[in-house]
Amino acid sequence: MPDKIVVAGVSVDTRHWIGGERVASAEMFTDHSPIDGKPIGEISRGTPTEAAAAVAAAKAAFPGWAATSRAERARILHAVADGVEKRLEELAIVETTDNGALLRSHRRGVMPRVAHNFRFFADWLLTLGHEDFETRGHTNHVSWDPAGPCVLITPWNAPLMLATWKVAPALAAGNTVVLKPAEWSPLTASLLADIAAEAGLPAGVLNVVQGYGSEIGDALTAHPDVRRISFTGSVPTARRIAASAAANLTPLSLELGGKSPLLVFADADLDRAVDLAVEQYDNAGQVCLAATRFLVEESVAQEFTRRFVEKATALVQGDPRDEGTDIGPTIHPRQLEKIDGFVQRALAAGARAVIGGHRRDGRYYAPTLLTDVAQDAEIVQEEVFGPVLTLQTFATEDEAVRLADDTRFGLAATLVTGDPERAERVSARLVAGTVWVNCFFVRDLQAPFGGSRHSGVGREGGTWSFDFYCDLRNTVTAPTGWTNH
Ligand code: NAD
Repeated sequence: MPDKIVVAGVSVDTRHWIGGERVASAEMFTDHSPIDGKPIGEISRGTPTEAAAAVAAAKAAFPGWAATSRAERARILHAVADGVEKRLEELAIVETTDNGALLRSHRRGVMPRVAHNFRFFADWLLTLGHEDFETRGHTNHVSWDPAGPCVLITPWNAPLMLATWKVAPALAAGNTVVLKPAEWSPLTASLLADIAAEAGLPAGVLNVVQGYGSEIGDALTAHPDVRRISFTGSVPTARRIAASAAANLTPLSLELGGKSPLLVFADADLDRAVDLAVEQYDNAGQVCLAATRFLVEESVAQEFTRRFVEKATALVQGDPRDEGTDIGPTIHPRQLEKIDGFVQRALAAGARAVIGGHRRDGRYYAPTLLTDVAQDAEIVQEEVFGPVLTLQTFATEDEAVRLADDTRFGLAATLVTGDPERAERVSARLVAGTVWVNCFFVRDLQAPFGGSRHSGVGREGGTWSFDFYCDLRNTVTAPTGWTNH
């Protein structure tokens, strides 16, 4: 099998990246493009042996990287960002080929954010404080020490974006990393390894292991030398990882699924509400933060629906490489099956498809809006992770909050209202890691990001990332000549 494949004109190494070297596995797995379902190439299928080798490489590189000055670490992370910017076009087209999300989004939004992830945490590192204070003449000195090798496990819906949200702060904090990208979208992680090496990141500081989570996950997450695990993905996998990490009490950060509401009050600017509602089809609905449950005040529900249908049916679904495409394919036939299963069960239970409700050719699913759904219905309670939205109505603010909070998730909520007092009142009552008022998807890396309940454990972003990726130490020193007597 070739060590390199050419993807949309870009050469991508199919092997792992361990200790500054490319390492092949005996077995391979086939990576497919969601655009046409055709194979892209064969990728090294990691085993526990390569997983252990990657942790060993991260452990060996840790003392050197942890002792590297903050200024030098920041300089190298900025050089990684330069490399991302230099290869932005290549990263964008490879990612689109691999996961089917829109090329125009990768070019203009996602890949610039990938570079920003490195710049942001490099700069934040330089401001990270040491705190000193006094207790009965003794000095307390608080320091943020690197924790050690970190295992970072990421999903396929925004591969490089989500990986670098973790890689950048972990490296900035002085840790070394083993990154395990999703098997449905392994390619840009391999390019990141090249970029990091070119930027001067020392061997073993960043390692990439490819393969199936079910085959190498435990070897990474139960490893006694791993000091942090950060995971973005589904709730069932999170449970598995938490159980595996329990052996060593390894601290975990879990960014999981959602079933977020979009609340539209009668006093809202309806055009804005509809614009925000249509955005929920971005990335074919394969977005953890998507506000998939529309809760609309009864008096405006009909007009909201009319305007929504007008806008949603004008969206162009097709090849994500085309500039005019609004909605691309779903990632995998298994995901398509799962989406359609949810929809068909909902329809059988009495839901009505206002639009969509069926597959299209290939891996495409028609943008769907379902009404006549009960609050306890599966389609209202479970994350679909596809272009499937539901619409329910409410009569009072209390009812809106009750419906909004009545799932096991708590990742985000969006509310659209023209009344600032209502916005304040309602947002304070919602269980959600992020509440957006009259906007959606505005994400500043300074802000804490994460979910409540089954949407996750912990927060990342700004100081919270360093809280997670550092071991905090307080050193208490007695004054000269101090005696206990
Ligand atoms: P998934 O849980 O199936 O897989 C995620 C990653 O975990 C993959 O790399 C996979 O190989 C790995 N994995 C699988 N089994 C493992 C094991 N036993 N041990 C260790 N690793 C293992 O999730 P997915 O289908 O790739 O992603 C979709 C999910 O991710 C959705 O639920 C979505 O909401 C969630 N998500 C959350 C956020 C967030 O920030 N909260 C962002 C994006 C996606």
